[in-house]
This record gives sequence, structure tokens and C-alpha cells, in this order.
Amino acid sequence: MKVSVIGTGYVGLVAAACLAEGGNHVICVDNNEKKIDDLNNGIIPIYEPGLTEIVKRNEAAGRLTFTTDIKHGIDNSLLIFIGVGTPSAEDGSADISAVLNVAGQIGELMDGYRVIVTKSTVPVGTCKKVSEAISAKTEKPFDYVSNPEFLKEGSAVEDFLKPDRVIMGTTNPAVMELMKQLYAPFMRKSSRIIFMDPASAEMTKYAANVMLATRITFMNELSALCDTFGADIEHVRAGIGSDSRIGSSFLFPGVGYGGSCFPKDVSALIHMGQVQGSAMTIAESVHEANLAQQDRFAQKILDYFKDNSADTTLAVWGLAFKAKTDDTRMAPSFRCIKKFIDAGMKVVAYDPQALPGELTGKMKTVGNGYDALDGADGLVIFTDWQEFRTPDFELITRKLKKPVIFDGRNLYDPAYIKKQGIEYHCIGRPS
Ligand code: NAD
Repeated sequence: MKVSVIGTGYVGLVAAACLAEGGNHVICVDNNEKKIDDLNNGIIPIYEPGLTEIVKRNEAAGRLTFTTDIKHGIDNSLLIFIGVGTPSAEDGSADISAVLNVAGQIGELMDGYRVIVTKSTVPVGTCKKVSEAISAKTEKPFDYVSNPEFLKEGSAVEDFLKPDRVIMGTTNPAVMELMKQLYAPFMRKSSRIIFMDPASAEMTKYAANVMLATRITFMNELSALCDTFGADIEHVRAGIGSDSRIGSSFLFPGVGYGGSCFPKDVSALIHMGQVQGSAMTIAESVHEANLAQQDRFAQKILDYFKDNSADTTLAVWGLAFKAKTDDTRMAPSFRCIKKFIDAGMKVVAYDPQALPGELTGKMKTVGNGYDALDGADGLVIFTDWQEFRTPDFELITRKLKKPVIFDGRNLYDPAYIKKQGIEYHCIGRPS
């Protein structure tokens, strides 16, 4: 099939490459010229395991191309995916202006029947707004599908190629058949497409993300209560995760969730509830508790060094909001590091993939975790990168001025660390 994907970010690029892998001819469109130039020069703008290989393979096969020319994409495809960003607006709502802008351009440029598919996460009811934005500009026929994306950064390619399920918001039988064919390469064992109306598909995406954010946040809040009793959250996690009604996923306590999805989707659901007069009180509490968890972790460190903050240097391992991604959007590391810097501390950070972004110039970054430790007063861990899990503790002890670790990811066994002569502060575990 002929497909174009508008918006070539974490979702758009992965979706486009995977659809090309399924044998389709896919045109990636983005209005960021640098991104398209990079892609045309073989540079993949994001870090995502397996993405480089799949992009290069399909580009070489002539099934995947990159352009800033949206007309070229629309002229040469039957299916047009919209995968542009929907960031949080000031009031917490999802800003769908980029989606509506693209919808308007599609309406203006399409010269015949098209199927427009929204992959971006959009508030319930956007399906109507997108359809209206298109019909305001054209008399040509089109169908609309809401197909929210559930891939996870860090395993996005794998998630797209082998999805748990695909949510498809359309009730038109002909379009249902078309979408089944498009996704057939990823459904070889059994079809896992769940069809529904577009509004329910839009709601399903928010329901899933807010449910997952709630699980994490419940564990984080419980970890703080464990601290007050000297109970161990990791035992509690194992204890409840073994209950088949609960399951073990998304129960890992930590420094709080971040990223480009959970924070903004929780806020957007809260906003939807406010607008509809149907308060989302659980989501409101999740949002507050998540910020409190990040602040609690930062405060522990600020209190520890309060007598000489200005002379304190912290080594930081991990900036990305989670392992296997370079994404630092709404990362707890940034929120906490800003507090350290405000208190006069110096920060030397290492992340295998993420860049310092808005903290450039405010902290130092190094290319190796152990280099960050030289002369530092303590080590703070924000990201659960695999390479941090079994470090050389002897070297850590030797390089730090005083061997103390603040672990926002519970990577180590407190008893083992103690034996190494390291003072260890983690999340919800006696140390
Ligand atoms: P992103 O910021 O990485 O990518 C968005 C891309 O759209 C950018 O490259 C930008 O240049 C481009 N763009 C913006 N306006 C455009 C326009 N008018 N024309 C052409 N291109 C335009 O965002 P993302 O992380 O890929 O997220 C995209 C959407 O998918 C969001 O709604 C997000 O909530 C949703 N989503 C993201 C993830 C994730 O893990 N990142 C997972 C599921 C769903």
C-alpha cells in the first residue's frame, strides 16, 4: 500500500519504518528541515534500539523516503498517518494545533479519496475536529481512523512489529478491512486488532497511560510510607505482583515517572474531566504524587549536604527518563538537578545516550560514568540503564570523596552495598 506518515518523531519514524518493513511504500514527511536532511544523509535523529537497521534496510529497498514536501506525501499515498506532537498546553490540555494544522493541509491538498489515520495521542472528540478541519477545505471524500499508538520508547520497534493489540477507531467495514490488511504482517499468529468507534479509541489511549502512571505512582507513594515503618517496598512489590489479579508490570518504585507521554496524558485527562464536569480525581492525585516523589528524592539529597551545599559536587548517572532512550522530556533528573544547582551544588552527569538539553552550560557532562565520580561528594542515579546495574563498586568507592549513593531506581541490594563500605539511600527500602 502507499502510505505517508506526517511527523517523523519517536512515533512517526518508528511507525513509518515498520510499515515499510511490512512491504508498504512509505513517505515520511516532517516540517523540520534538519531532521529530514539528517535522515536523507543516513543520520537517525533519535536513539531507539533496532531503528537504524530497519530504516536503512527499507530506505535501501526503496520503500522508505523522507521529505519536507507534504504535497508529495499526500499526492502519493492512499493512507495518511498523522503522528505530530501533542504537547501539554499551559492549562494542562493537549495542544492539538499541529494535528489540526496538518489536517487542514491534507484537506487543501488531497485530489481524491484518502484515509486519514491519527496516531498522535489526542483528546476525546478530536476525531470530529480533524474531520471538520479536512472537510472545511475539500469536497473530496475521505475516511477517518483513530489509531492511537502504544509503543514504548526503548522497545518501540519491537512493540510496533509485535503489538499486544492494535486499537482501531473506525466503524466503516471497508476501512476496517483496509486497516486489517495494513497490519496483517504484524498479526501473523492471531489478529489482535480491536475495532471501536473513534472517540472510544481516543479514550482507550488515555485510559491505558493513566492506569499505568497510577500503578507506578501508587508504588512510589507506598515506598514513602514503607520508609516511615522500615518496611521494604521491594518485598511488597514481589508480594503483590505475584497476585494474578494484579500482575507484576509497572510496579517498580522509583524517583517518579517522566517522559513525553505519562505526564502530559495525565494532565490532559484531568483537563478533559474539568471541561466535561466529570472530575478525574485519581489522575489529579497521581499528578501531584508524582511531583512529590521527585521532590522527596531531591530533598533527601539536599538535606544530606545542607551544611556545605556550595562545596558539594554530585555525580549523576542517567538523564533520560528511563533506560534505552535518549528522551529527557519531563525527566525527573532535570527537575531534581535544577534544585541541586539552585542550592549551589555542582553537577557532573553521564548518560549513555541522552543530551543535557536545557541544562547545557549549567552542569558538566562526561562520556563515561566513572569519570563523573572524580572528586564528587556522592553519586545520584536517575536512570535504570543496564550498564549501571553491576558497576565496579571498588572503583566507585575509590573515586568518590565519600562513598555515598542515592539510587532513584533501586538498582542494588542494600546488604551487598553495605558490605562494600558504601552508604546507600534508595527508594522505600531500609538501608
Ligand atoms: P516527537 O516530538 O518526537 O515528533 C513529532 C514530529 O512532528 C516532530 O519531528 C515535528 O517536527 C513534527 N511536526 C510537528 N508539526 C508538524 C507539521 N505541521 N508538519 C509536519 N511535521 C510536523 O513526538 P512523538 O514522541 O513522536 O509523539 C508524537 C505523538 O505520538 C504524540 O501525540 C504522542 O503523545 C504520541 N505518542 C508518543 C509515544 C512516545 O513514546 N513518544 C508513544 C505513543 C504515542
